[in-house]
Amino acid sequence: MIESTMMDEQLVIKKIVDHAQRLYGAVEIVSRLPDPTMYHRYTVRDMIGRAYVLAEALQKLGIKPGDRVGTMMWNHYGHLEAYFGIPLSGGVLHTINIRLHADEIVYIVNHAEDRFLIVDDVLLPLIEPLRERLKVEAIIVFPYQGSTLLQEPYVSYERLLDTADGHYQEPHWDEVAPLGMCYTSGTTGRPKGVVYSHRAIVLHALVSALPGALDVSDRDTVTPVVPMFHVNAWGLPFSMTLLGAKQVYPGPHLSPERLLELYESERVTVTAGVPTIWLGILQIIDRYPDRYRLPNMRMIVGGAAAPEGLIRGLDRHGHRVIHAWGMTETAPLGTVSQIKQVLSHHSEDELYQLRSKQGYPVPLIDVRIRGPEGILPWDGKSMGELEIRGPWVTKSYFKQDETEALSTDGWFRTGDVATIDAEGYVKITDRIKDLIKSGGEWISSVDLENALMSHPGVLEAAVIAVPHEKWGERPLAVVVKKDGAALTEATLKDFLGERFAKWWLPDAYVFVESIPRTASGKFLKTALRETYKNWYGQ
Ligand code: ADP
Repeated sequence: MIESTMMDEQLVIKKIVDHAQRLYGAVEIVSRLPDPTMYHRYTVRDMIGRAYVLAEALQKLGIKPGDRVGTMMWNHYGHLEAYFGIPLSGGVLHTINIRLHADEIVYIVNHAEDRFLIVDDVLLPLIEPLRERLKVEAIIVFPYQGSTLLQEPYVSYERLLDTADGHYQEPHWDEVAPLGMCYTSGTTGRPKGVVYSHRAIVLHALVSALPGALDVSDRDTVTPVVPMFHVNAWGLPFSMTLLGAKQVYPGPHLSPERLLELYESERVTVTAGVPTIWLGILQIIDRYPDRYRLPNMRMIVGGAAAPEGLIRGLDRHGHRVIHAWGMTETAPLGTVSQIKQVLSHHSEDELYQLRSKQGYPVPLIDVRIRGPEGILPWDGKSMGELEIRGPWVTKSYFKQDETEALSTDGWFRTGDVATIDAEGYVKITDRIKDLIKSGGEWISSVDLENALMSHPGVLEAAVIAVPHEKWGERPLAVVVKKDGAALTEATLKDFLGERFAKWWLPDAYVFVESIPRTASGKFLKTALRETYKNWYGQ
């Protein structure tokens, strides 16, 4: 047995920081401030300089390797400083979803045993009522809207930075040490903590930027709309910094109009978020095609299925949807739906169908599907639970060594039901919990929703299982009409009738003003199921 002659270089955050500093120091980072007419601008060099100062200041506060620092912040440069400063100090960046219920925030902060919190001044009204219940040593307030007058027990971020005097101590780097953590949003139970290693984040940053993946480089200007408290904004802050893309952060201004203004003024080329955001944007640019002078953008859509109608709609305006799938447990990128070159000769309709699938696994990620009898073939028809394996996939949860989420041979069981076709494209048909079981057969709520959302009069649609005496469960559709659309149950029935077997069709359609959502913007199907549980007379 011989040994390799290669260096044993650790894949740690410092690798990203050093590369960015040397090559892309002058690249701009733009953040919208709480007043939407105001912007903060500085460079990657400035950001990294301040991240080191933050790291040193945290060390002066007594942070030890592996200690957690929670953040409750919007998408902006201050949050980015924390993204790099906390791991550079040896600490663990714990991003907290500010849209969660107060009790859940308290649970997460205390469960993670965060020693410090860094919070936006504009979020103090949210934090103040919880303060007594949060077992943290200090709450550091970032002056996002310029607040400097702070009362005990709050600590000013800038004052903290002033305590640094150029004695930053580089921690002992170990690539498997924790860099960050994030809790699942609890759509399916109590939030669970996932802890990311340095190695996982570095590899994820590299692979997710590949042309066949999210396709991000120094030629791009990137706006993550997906919050930095939601699975690290899909890793974009790390890949943008590593690869030198200009970074544009929207702050709390996430309405379609505000985003469109930002895309126009900063000439954004790549943006990323959940389908709801793009549905809202599409509605506006369809109605006022000449109002905004937009560059051609690549829009990364994930977190929930991108309906085919959305992909076609954005194409009409010269944008390109990149549909991706992932989860908190997979850091998050698992699959991406781009068209492989060998498939480019397919018909337009086939290509759209392919792009509305969740796509092929990115390099270093393995996927498979399992049915009751074992592993299923990649034939595009066999449907089973999606299992995944890779260097940025979790094998357990924080403070929970054993997990039922792992198969006996070490693959992570996602709880999603999928098919995989011969070309390796995964299609998520449902979450196990959301599948509709009618007369012993499965109906995919996602397929019905996507079809409904391709109807020109439908803004959004969720399909849920409702208990039914004869069939066990039957589908029910909850629909939000587009402004001014004249829709009836009969129209939608005919529309779906052309595409699906009769027994798949929802037995009822309910028109509503809006669909309840989870803290990460997905349909809150548990609430819908509760509301409509007696609809079929049970
Ligand atoms: P939570 O599990 O709390 O909702 P995550 O953000 O980790 O939080 O969600 C991961 C889940 O989101 C996946 O398991 C899958 O069900 C769903 N999901 C993510 N991306 C897509 C997509 N492109 N299409 C369909 N479902 C998706």
